[in-house]
Amino acid sequence: MTPMNSKKWIDLHLHTLASDGTFTAQEVLEKAREAHFSAVAITDHDSVRALEEARFHGEKFGIEVISGIELSAYHAEQEVHILGYFFDDKNVLLLEKLKEFQSAREKRIHAIVKKLQEIKINISLDDVFKLVGDGAAGRLHVARVLYEKGIVTHPSEAFKRFLSYGKPAYVPKEKISTWEAIDMIRKAGGIASLAHPVFLPQEKLIASFVQEGLQAIEVYHPEHSSGVTDHYRKMAIEHGLLMTGGSDCHGLAKGKMLIGSVRTPYELLEPLKKRALN
Ligand code: AMP
Ligand code: ZN
Ligand code: FE
Ligand code: FE
Repeated sequence: MTPMNSKKWIDLHLHTLASDGTFTAQEVLEKAREAHFSAVAITDHDSVRALEEARFHGEKFGIEVISGIELSAYHAEQEVHILGYFFDDKNVLLLEKLKEFQSAREKRIHAIVKKLQEIKINISLDDVFKLVGDGAAGRLHVARVLYEKGIVTHPSEAFKRFLSYGKPAYVPKEKISTWEAIDMIRKAGGIASLAHPVFLPQEKLIASFVQEGLQAIEVYHPEHSSGVTDHYRKMAIEHGLLMTGGSDCHGLAKGKMLIGSVRTPYELLEPLKKRALN
């Protein structure tokens, strides 16, 4: 992709092998360079493990690397993803919590595979953990095994038929509230942003998350059409929230490589940085 005039762009939502993406941090930075991004945030689910490698390659390529994380919280039964930025990724309390979440994720895979076996979908734990490697295990790893075995025709079909809420192999993650997720990020010195608000069941929840300390909202996302993007930009202004954005790229885990498909203006980064320092 060629740079569109001299404007600078960022991607603040990227997954690596440290969670359910398929690229190493180095590969993500290489793709970010090819797509002419000036800054990126690696936002793995419950893991900051890729940050060091990302920073190393970022420095080499002249790309700013921001600490990031994606936490899954729950509002009642509904999953709400909270992104964190600019926090101290050596914060002991945060690292302890992440370790706990990662081991809960492993146990959850055992429960999911068992539920699948109960409905005669026979995949083994080994199949899943081969894909997980030493990353944070998730449902997308299970979905990929089901896809590779020809049980579903696309990983997203695995969610629709088996893995989503209300489906036969659904198992919730260790449940934390949106307040807890926001608090974890803020206590480590970071900014908490609501990921892909288009997936929220009720938009009025945004106001309650603001009460809980939410500071930003993801305005740019591949699931946001330009109308939806405009809508959340207005919501951000209305609620006094800063804006974030990114491709939510999982490498090739969902079929298509998304880095470069969503371009977020660099100007949004300064106010985020400033707020994190306060
Ligand atoms: P987990 O963190 O294990 O609960 O899994 C959540 C992840 O699964 C999300 O971040 C997405 O990467 C992926 N995911 C969730 N729903 C779908 C879906 N319908 N199709 C494809 N991937 C999905
Ligand atoms: Zn994911
Ligand atoms: Fe998410
Ligand atoms: Fe994500």
